[in-house]
Amino acid sequence: MANPLTPDVLVDPVVLTRALVDIQSVSRDEKVIADCVEDVLAKVSHLSVRRVGNTVMARTKLGREQRVILAGHLDTVPVNGNLPSTVVDDLIYGCGTADMKAGVALALHLAVTLPDPQYDLTYLFYEAEEIESEFNGLNLVAREHPKWLEADLAVLLEPTFGTVEAGCQGTMRVRVRTRGRRAHTARAWRGVNAIHAAGEVLRRLEKYHPRTVTIDGCTYREGLSAVRISGGVAGNVVPDECSVDVNLRFAPDRSEDQALEHLREVFDGFDLEVTDSAPGALPGLDAAPAREFLAAVGIEPAGKLGWTDVARFAALGVPALNYGPGDPSLAHAPDEHVEIGKIRDGVATLYRWLAP
Ligand SMILES: [Zn+2]
Repeated sequence: MANPLTPDVLVDPVVLTRALVDIQSVSRDEKVIADCVEDVLAKVSHLSVRRVGNTVMARTKLGREQRVILAGHLDTVPVNGNLPSTVVDDLIYGCGTADMKAGVALALHLAVTLPDPQYDLTYLFYEAEEIESEFNGLNLVAREHPKWLEADLAVLLEPTFGTVEAGCQGTMRVRVRTRGRRAHTARAWRGVNAIHAAGEVLRRLEKYHPRTVTIDGCTYREGLSAVRISGGVAGNVVPDECSVDVNLRFAPDRSEDQALEHLREVFDGFDLEVTDSAPGALPGLDAAPAREFLAAVGIEPAGKLGWTDVARFAALGVPALNYGPGDPSLAHAPDEHVEIGKIRDGVATLYRWLAP
């Protein structure tokens, strides 16, 4: 197949977005798009290129004092009758337009057209973001080639509709158990009812006041929610066990250990078992490249409430943020689309920042 990412296509990020969308790349099927991207980058004299699996990395070596990563995933969720792309007025429709081929197009366009950025740049085009973490290209690179991820700031070009979302909240799920003693319900006084005991767990959840925390101007709203309750033995048995699964979404000023400590305080007197946990990420907007980036975008950053790959960078000590042209609420939707104007704004902003 001839590479559709020709020089004519690469010079226009809008045309490039469409071309990338039309190279189908559902998770675990990114070889063709990774081949096309690698082929483009290998021809650029100011970049050195490496590849692992279907993740392609390219970087400048200009000897600048600081290095910035621009990253985007190449995969999409399964196609839903929405390929090839179509254009209606100012909108490009198709699978992966918003999440996140438009963002990938910005990075690839910059990689080809910006030989002398004010920071050294590392471009990462990675595989398998939409599926389990074990396949995630960033995760694999972090394990096998951590040096590729060394930088002073990482910008993930995930859809944010042109706003800046910095850091992200952590998440922890625990199982809160209550115990009792079985008995026949005809002689209930002989037993202890574990489901009744769960009432106290629910009362504590009802009374709980979650924190709102502002860090570097970004506001994070915590939440503590029961997400499942189970218990009961039979229709005539006083149950001896009940469990309530609780999910804490915590601001990134808490570590996972501190989050667990907090849950132990809330549910003092109960048995807790951690069933799932992922750390948050501080926004880290005080570094010079981040401050200059915010100045170029010209709007206040917001805290990211969900968990994103930003946290993978934070775990490596690299502050990271999300900034991309797509509308996040359209990600994974059959009518997924991206505004052409947002792509043009995005490329102009990145140029203001990187080539002042
Ligand atoms: Zn995405």
